Amino acid sequence: MSKIHKLQLSTINRIAAGEVIERPASVVKELVENAIDAGATHINITIERAGKSLIIVEDNGSGMDKEDLQLAMERHATSKLNDDYLVNIPHLGFRGEALAAIGVISNVEIITRQQNMSNALKITNNAGVLGAVEPCAGRVGTRIIVRNLFYATPARLNFLQTDRGEGAKIKELVERIALSHPQIGFTLFVDGKEKCNHPAQPLPERIAGIMGRECADNMIEVKGEEDEVKITGFISLPTYHIGTRLMQYFFINGRSVMDKQLYPTLRAVYQDVLAHDRHPVVALFLDMPYHLVDVNVHPTKAEVRFKFANALKSLIIRTLRQALADHSTRASGHNTRRSLDILSRNNAVNLGNNQRNFAFQSPNNAANFNRIHNNHNSTPNYPPRRGLSDNLGAYKNETPINNAEIPPPTGQNTPTGDLYPLGMARAQIFDTYIIAQNNDQLIMVDQHAAHERIIYEKLKSYYYNSDKNAPSQDLLFPESLHAPEDVVERVIQARPALLKLGANITKLGDDELLINAVPFVIAQCNPLKLLQDIIDNFANDALDNAVEGRINKFLSSFACHGSIRAGRKLTLPEMDALLREMEITPNSAQCNHGRPTYIHLNMAQIESLFGRA
Ligand code: ADP
Ligand code: MG
Repeated sequence: MSKIHKLQLSTINRIAAGEVIERPASVVKELVENAIDAGATHINITIERAGKSLIIVEDNGSGMDKEDLQLAMERHATSKLNDDYLVNIPHLGFRGEALAAIGVISNVEIITRQQNMSNALKITNNAGVLGAVEPCAGRVGTRIIVRNLFYATPARLNFLQTDRGEGAKIKELVERIALSHPQIGFTLFVDGKEKCNHPAQPLPERIAGIMGRECADNMIEVKGEEDEVKITGFISLPTYHIGTRLMQYFFINGRSVMDKQLYPTLRAVYQDVLAHDRHPVVALFLDMPYHLVDVNVHPTKAEVRFKFANALKSLIIRTLRQALADHSTRASGHNTRRSLDILSRNNAVNLGNNQRNFAFQSPNNAANFNRIHNNHNSTPNYPPRRGLSDNLGAYKNETPINNAEIPPPTGQNTPTGDLYPLGMARAQIFDTYIIAQNNDQLIMVDQHAAHERIIYEKLKSYYYNSDKNAPSQDLLFPESLHAPEDVVERVIQARPALLKLGANITKLGDDELLINAVPFVIAQCNPLKLLQDIIDNFANDALDNAVEGRINKFLSSFACHGSIRAGRKLTLPEMDALLREMEITPNSAQCNHGRPTYIHLNMAQIESLFGRA
C-alpha cells in the first residue's frame, strides 16, 4: 500500500497559515495593513493577553459588500492583485492569504459596512468553517475580531514568548506602521489600557510621538531624488546615537522593511563620525516605481529585492552624507541636555528640588539650539577671510594646524555670536576645555576632540578630494623600526596612499622601515609612534590587504597623534584660532567617535540653573 497520501485541505491550510501567521503580532500586522489598504484614516487596535485571547482591529475605511465579505476569507482571494500582473503592487497586501490563514487557526468575526449600505454585515469563521453572511449593526468601515488565536494549532502556542514579550512585539509593530503612515490616526489598547495614541499628524510630530521629542529634535531632514527613486525622511545628527539598531526604520513604498542590505549602507554613511558600537536613529522612506522592487520574496514581506541595488545604495549614501554635511557644524542638544542633567543633579544637593528637574524644565533646549544653528551653515555669513598667522603666536610654532585662511578675530575679544557661531574664547579650564561666549550662549569646547576632528577632516579631504598629496614635514632625523618582512612589504605596497596623507615611509631593509616625513598638519607628532601605529595596523589583521579599508583607521590614528592633547595650555588667540577652524570644518561638532566636540548653554538655561528663570 502506498505510504503517500494527499493531505486534507484543512491541514494544507493550517500549514500555510503557519508561514504567514507566526505570532499574534503577525495578525495585527495583516489586519492593520488591510485597514490601510482600505483607505482608513483612523485605526483602533485592541489586544488582550498579548493577542492570544483577543485582537480587534477596527477601521473607518471602505468596508466590503456582501460578495467581497464572502470571499475575503477564502485562500488566495484578494481584491488587490490582477492575475496577469505580479509586478505593480501598490497595496500593502496582495497575497490574499492573511484572512484565510487567520481564519483557520482561530475564531474570526468580521463586521463591515460600506458608505452606501443601510446596515453592516457580519460573517464568522471558526477554524476554517465559514458562517453565513448576516446583517447587523455597525459603523462604516470594518471591524475584525480574532479570538483564541492558535487554538486550532496549539503547538504554535508553545513557541510564543511570554505575554509581555509578545505584547512588546505588537507595540513595536504598531509604532513601526504608525511611523510609515503619519496621515492615519492610531490607537492601541492593551488589556484595557491605552498604550499608543497617535492622531493624524505631520511626520516630524509622529517621529516625536514614537521616538521621543529629544530624538526628533536631534534629527535632520533628508531629501534626494534620482531616476524616479525618491528618498525622504529624517536621520540623527552624528552626536545623537544609541547602542542598538532598533530605532532604524526603513520604508519602501510605504511598507516597513528590515532589509539586511540597508544596515551596512547606513553604516557607510556614518562610518567616520560614529564609533563601531553606536548606531544612528533613522526614519527613511524610499519611494520608487513598483517594478524596481520585488516585495514577493518573503512570506511576511519583511525583505525585498531591489533591481538596481548598487545604484540605490550609492544614492542613499550620497543623499544622507549631503544632509549631514549641510548640518556639519551643528552638535546635538542631546549631549548638552545630558550634561545639564548631571550639572543639575550635582547642584541639587544644595539647591533643592527645583534644580533636579532642570532637564524637564527646559524641554526646548535642543530645539532652541537647532533653531540658532540652522540659521547659519558654515560659510555664507562670514566676513572675507584673511591670513591669521600673526594671531597664532606660540601656537603657530608648535602645531601648524592653522595653515588655512581664517577670519580674523575682532581684537577686543568681544562676543560676536552672529559672526562667529562658536563665539570668542574667554578662558581655558583644566588645561583641557575652552570656554567661549557668543551673543547668547556659553560654549565649552573639548580642545583635543575638536582639534582631532579638524586634522581628520583636512587629511580626509586631501585623500579623497585632491589630486595632490597632503603637505609633508621632512624629518631632520628620519627614524626607523623593525617589522616582520610581510608587514614591511604591505606597508610599502600602501606607500602611495600613505604619501597621499603626507607620510613618507621607505624600506630600509627586508625587515626595517624608515619614516622620512610626517603629515604637515601633525608635524609635532612623535614619528616613531606614528610609524609603530602604521606597522601595527598592517600586522593586526593579515587578511585585509586593501588599503582603502584602512584609510579611515589611518585618518583616525594620524589625527589622534597630531592633535593638541588635553592638558596643554593655550593662549586666547590660539583658542580663537581653533574655534574659527572648527567653524569652517565639516563635521566639526563631533569627534570621529561620535562624541561632541563642544556643548553649549544659553542664557535662559544658565539662569534656570541659578533658579532665576
Ligand atoms: P490581501 O490583503 O493580500 O488582499 P487578505 O486576506 O488580507 O488578502 O484580505 C483579502 C481581501 O479582503 C482584501 O483583498 C480586501 O479586498 C478585503 N479586506 C480585508 N480587510 C479589509 C478591510 N479592513 N477593509 C476592506 N476590505 C478588506
Ligand atoms: Mg492583507
